[in-house]
Amino acid sequence: MSDVNLHQTLYDAMESARPVIGRGNVADYIPALTEVDPHAFGMALATVDGEVYGVGDWEQPFSIQSVSKLFTLALTLSHGPHGDELWKRVGREPSGNRFNSLVQLETEHGIPRNPFINAGAVVVTDRLHTLTGDAAGAVRGFLRTESGNRHLDTDARVAASEALHGHRNAALAHFLASYGNLENPVETVLDHYYAHCSIAASCRDLALAGGFLARHGLRSDGARLLPRSDAKRINAVLLTCGMYDAAGEFAYRVGLPGKSGVGGGILAVIPGRGTLCAWSPALDPAGNSLAAVHALDAFTTMTGWSVF
Ligand code: GLN
Repeated sequence: MSDVNLHQTLYDAMESARPVIGRGNVADYIPALTEVDPHAFGMALATVDGEVYGVGDWEQPFSIQSVSKLFTLALTLSHGPHGDELWKRVGREPSGNRFNSLVQLETEHGIPRNPFINAGAVVVTDRLHTLTGDAAGAVRGFLRTESGNRHLDTDARVAASEALHGHRNAALAHFLASYGNLENPVETVLDHYYAHCSIAASCRDLALAGGFLARHGLRSDGARLLPRSDAKRINAVLLTCGMYDAAGEFAYRVGLPGKSGVGGGILAVIPGRGTLCAWSPALDPAGNSLAAVHALDAFTTMTGWSVF
């Protein structure tokens, strides 16, 4: 598809989503997130060779929230066998429960279902912190390098708001610790978890930063971040678990591996072609951006680009 057509297709996808932009609810359990305009919408495509196309508010930073969990997992696995030890401590099955649910942790002896629900992501942050000494710094550094945006940073107000209202995540973390499934102090792990969730980045930044998953493990400069098989595996876990308990619906409608966040962003991977990021803050009941899912659905339907 030519450059003009790609830009036009993004535009058409945005227009197709327009009637539902603002529909749904902005996440309010993190008070700082309620200040965002529910009618904002942006979408960007970064191709495997580094071209970027965007429409709407595609250069406006937003709170990436759980989209960060894709990067914590990839950076952990980039440590080879030391990263792979993670899989003794977290599973790879869809949860069927909300992203911040506690219910399975007790019956499954402190082993979270997958790395993308909150409990699993806390374990990944813990492992990454052991491996790097600075889990949130590792995520920020990676995003800055891959996006070329040196100003990308944690929004300290959002991080503080999350910490202040983070009783559920604190409960999850203490529960994990009670099963011996944290290597670092609970407070340290939560600080880093909040700090990487509260990174502010744009659709442009995230589409570029996720490119390694479309390039089968290669970073933007051609260096290898992950073995090809690990990139495949991350895409598989994204497809089955990246949208919480709406992963089936997202696979049905969009047909791509993807990761959402309660800030309203969704990063989706078109292996071998590129990375799409759509953002609009109002969420559906599962916690995924209603308009972003709609726009991604429209884009893959128009292009036929899907893993199926
Ligand atoms: N930081 C948020 C939380 O821990 C991330 C949730 C999300 O985006 N689904 O609740």
